[in-house]
Amino acid sequence: MSIAHNENLIEIHNVSYAYATELVLKDVSFVVHRGDYLGIVGPNGGGKTTMLKIILGLLTPTSGEVRVFGTPSNRFKHRSALGYVPQNVAGIERHFPATVEEVVAMGRYAQVGMFHRLKKNDYAIIERSLEQVGMANYRQRLIGDLSGGQLQRVFIARALAAEPEVLILDEPTVGVDVHHQEQFYALLRKLNTTLDLTLILVSHDLDIVAKETTELACINQTITYHGSPAEFVESGLVEKVYGPTVQRVAHHHV
Ligand code: ADP
Repeated sequence: MSIAHNENLIEIHNVSYAYATELVLKDVSFVVHRGDYLGIVGPNGGGKTTMLKIILGLLTPTSGEVRVFGTPSNRFKHRSALGYVPQNVAGIERHFPATVEEVVAMGRYAQVGMFHRLKKNDYAIIERSLEQVGMANYRQRLIGDLSGGQLQRVFIARALAAEPEVLILDEPTVGVDVHHQEQFYALLRKLNTTLDLTLILVSHDLDIVAKETTELACINQTITYHGSPAEFVESGLVEKVYGPTVQRVAHHHV
């Protein structure tokens, strides 16, 4: 069964944000529908990470409104519905003596509460999350013994263990080689199409976003584009936003 992409999960209405006096986002509006795979691109310092932090409820807009599942963000309690995969997974502290299963269990605690015991059902969800990312056979491995690509899958499983409805990823393939990047994006595609998981991917890599996502938003203080990824690439806006060297830079690491 395919979904209609018309149910509003996240609504951003005229959001502006300033760190002290520096205006970083100005009058930004867009909607993420259930089932969307939204890529957010834009130049460095354009406000992408700030936008994610606002969606996650970590920052409050200076003006404007954010609604998450129809509820104003500041009153939205079901935080585990928004799964987050951090930047630079490959660079995390690898010597932390935790197994794959323990790291994924941490994601489950986000759902049930830190001081609750995990029950049979929770362990079944942890197992399912490991299977969904193809890491079930590695459950007893120490995370320090994994490749960058495997570690990234574990962090996806950790997010899935909280049973999110939206998965938010901030530059998830920084420091990961091209081969593992391909596998990683194939996994995201599967999560989006077979589990109907809504995805928001922040990336500086236009080629990947144009190829993988169903919607594209370009943020450079304001929303400079929101629509079809293919049309963005054809529109000539790319060079306007990033400057004329972008194509070379974008292809450099493919
Ligand atoms: P992007 O993710 O697109 O690179 P960011 O949202 O990280 O952009 O940053 C947007 C702007 O806000 C940048 O100019 C950055 O220097 C500034 N900024 C980010 N975080 C902070 C902060 N904690 N305090 C002050 N300024 C910040």
